[in-house]
Amino acid sequence: MDLRNGIGLRPLGNTPAEFEQDLLSNLYYRRGTTVESASAQDAYETLALTVRDRLAARRARTSAAQYAANPRWVYYLSAEFLFGRQLSQNLLYSNTGEVAAAALKAFGLAPGEVEELDVEPGLGNGGLGRLAACLLDAMATLDIPAVGYGIRYDFGIFKQAFADGAQVEKPDAWAFQGNPWEFPAPDDRQTVFFYGHTTRDSDGNTTWIPGEIVLGEPSHMLVPGYGTDTVNIVRLWSARGSESSFDLSRFSAGQYAEAVQEAVRAENISKVLYPDDSTELGRELRLKQQYFLVSCSLRDIIRRFRLRNAAWSEFAGKTAIQLNDTHPTLAIPELMRLLVDEEGLSWDEAWEITQRTFAYTCHTLLPEALETWPVALFERLLPRHLEIIYAINEGLLGEVRSRFPDDLDRVRRMSLIQEEPERRVRMANLAVTGTTAVNGVAELHSKLLAETTLRDFAELWPAKFRNVTNGVSPRRFVRLANPSLADLITSSLGDGGWINDLDRLEDLAPLADDPAFLSRWREIKRANKVRLGLGDPDSLTDVMVKRFHEYKRQQLKLLHVITQYHRIKNNPGGSYVPRTVLFAGKAAPAYHAAKSIIRLINAVARVVDEDAAVAPYLKIVFPPNYNVTLGELIIPAADLSEQISLAGKEASGTGNMKLALNGAITIGTLDGANIEIRDRVGADNFFLFGLDTPGATALRAAGYNPRAYYERDDELRAALDAIASGAFGGVGQEVADSLLNRDEYLTLADYRAYVDCQSEVDEAWQDQDRWTRASILNTARTGFFSADRTVRDYISTIWHVDPVHVPHP
Ligand SMILES: *Cc1c(COP(=O)(O)O)cnc(C)c1O
Repeated sequence: MDLRNGIGLRPLGNTPAEFEQDLLSNLYYRRGTTVESASAQDAYETLALTVRDRLAARRARTSAAQYAANPRWVYYLSAEFLFGRQLSQNLLYSNTGEVAAAALKAFGLAPGEVEELDVEPGLGNGGLGRLAACLLDAMATLDIPAVGYGIRYDFGIFKQAFADGAQVEKPDAWAFQGNPWEFPAPDDRQTVFFYGHTTRDSDGNTTWIPGEIVLGEPSHMLVPGYGTDTVNIVRLWSARGSESSFDLSRFSAGQYAEAVQEAVRAENISKVLYPDDSTELGRELRLKQQYFLVSCSLRDIIRRFRLRNAAWSEFAGKTAIQLNDTHPTLAIPELMRLLVDEEGLSWDEAWEITQRTFAYTCHTLLPEALETWPVALFERLLPRHLEIIYAINEGLLGEVRSRFPDDLDRVRRMSLIQEEPERRVRMANLAVTGTTAVNGVAELHSKLLAETTLRDFAELWPAKFRNVTNGVSPRRFVRLANPSLADLITSSLGDGGWINDLDRLEDLAPLADDPAFLSRWREIKRANKVRLGLGDPDSLTDVMVKRFHEYKRQQLKLLHVITQYHRIKNNPGGSYVPRTVLFAGKAAPAYHAAKSIIRLINAVARVVDEDAAVAPYLKIVFPPNYNVTLGELIIPAADLSEQISLAGKEASGTGNMKLALNGAITIGTLDGANIEIRDRVGADNFFLFGLDTPGATALRAAGYNPRAYYERDDELRAALDAIASGAFGGVGQEVADSLLNRDEYLTLADYRAYVDCQSEVDEAWQDQDRWTRASILNTARTGFFSADRTVRDYISTIWHVDPVHVPHP
């Protein structure tokens, strides 16, 4: 038996008899129950274990092949992973869907009932976390040796409910029933330091004497590739108190709370995901989370490196660490600390290794989303890292001064330390300085990063700056979310290989003129609307699903809806295209303006619903708790995709890609990846409106006055007056006031163009063949947005890693 190659394993067969046998074994031996007394939860957990075992066998072979190859690994560090449900994915990837359905009958269960018990691990806020999950999926599919690192939050993104139309947040104890998809590995625990002070010996070596010690306990989930034997992992860290953190003497003295307070304090670090999307709030616990992730992960990466390698000079050649936004940026000073303080390397050697190892993905242009932390907090929490950051800063500013002599203002702007109004550490500057490459996430975003947000750095190090346009997993967002469409594509293209070779969707384009194909396409879209079960399946399903943020401009969509409502009311005999307008998304709990917009949408929905004259033409639905699972239901049902952010604000967007791939036509601005979508699908198959980035900048420079738009546009005035007058309940005044007096995102400036563009949408809808043709061409021409292409771009421009093929047994 050759244990090292993972081939000593008893093969797990996928015949119905073999699968049923394993299911029974797992029910008895691992779940510890019997068929007679098994609950639905038992059935779910047992099925999950049986499927997981099949992937674990592949994992064993993957690990053997990867260790033998000793390749350069990709380590993807991210504070968020928005995975989505695991069961349906793992059934598909292990090709056990059919045998599993048959075996479940033994329990008297339908696959759907079990699916409902599969809880989505909501360990992310939105686009950034979902991107991380899509990239892991693509890396495994492309046989790239990779490990994801994140935090195993006890509570993921809150569950959204509505009370009287207002968002209320409920905790998401996603693993309350346990999580059958993960493997705890307490023996790989790492020790993490916080607080304390530093000392220097006579040789100048520095030691950090910590004030608090916390343990990081990993567990991993399997990340299978599709159509390959590779199974990678994602490691998630939980914070634990040390063995001595339970104070037995206090407990014996009856001081129960005090006896566990140290352990509680430690465990709070991984207790909850911060629910803020695109803004930063500087909470000490958040910085502790970031350092906790980084410290545990780097030690684990080094442990793995040492399994096959010895010399530090080889480290960067074997290790590519991608920082998903600035949240894991502390990895830069932490690696410096490990190399210099613990491993005794010289500063210059360590800096060379560090810079070669890391790369940084920036996800924003919004200044309020650029992380900074008070120096005073660093001094207390991470005293050694602050010293290292100062030393890095000295090197940086020396380089700036020698390249741009006498440009004091530039030196001030580029410093890792902001001086006014309060001394703070600028994490993006640190991330750019300590890495080999910096990338934006769409062409426009990368360009604007280099021209505006990170301009000084792009002038100093132009070669560092790259673009890697985001992508999405076609497995999850087409094959799993839209199985009927995937089947149609497979039968049209002759085989299912297109799922891993998404450019082949182009071969659908000629079918856009085939009447039989058009009608089949329409039937599938309609059936997806029936499956969703919200609104008339024959109406135009107009979808805006994403986090609530003023820059994304749900308020603009709402102004259009109210205008449409007024048009129907004022002319009840007119002819209108029936629309179902679907909103979904969460607002950060402390984001008052976004929550007001949510309340207003729900209020408008109620008024419209109760109006019998309008109801046949307009329905507003707002299902609560948008997450990956809900997205998988909504996206395949969409006719129209709303991507209406103010130009220059959305870094990329990935919802836009998911919707286009599922045949929704975009109405959008020239923002983020919308531009690249439009370039590919063609101007005739995209509804473009509104200001572009230079237009928005110019308008603001000229002194933007929203009230002027209000005064000169009758329909806009009517909509805002209705909102302000309380026609839709209490929060209207506030939303109207913000739009009329500030309108930071130029909503009123884009209103007329948007509403007129929506009239073009209505007109296009009336020619169903034309619409369906455009829908097909959207799918056919957006294969570029596969996360596989994104990963290939990262490989060729940043990571320079090779795949490791896992032989089939
Ligand atoms: C894709 C996705 C997002 C990102 O949507 P954008 O429209 O790009 O902001 C957010 N949340 C979930 C659940 C997603 O699946």
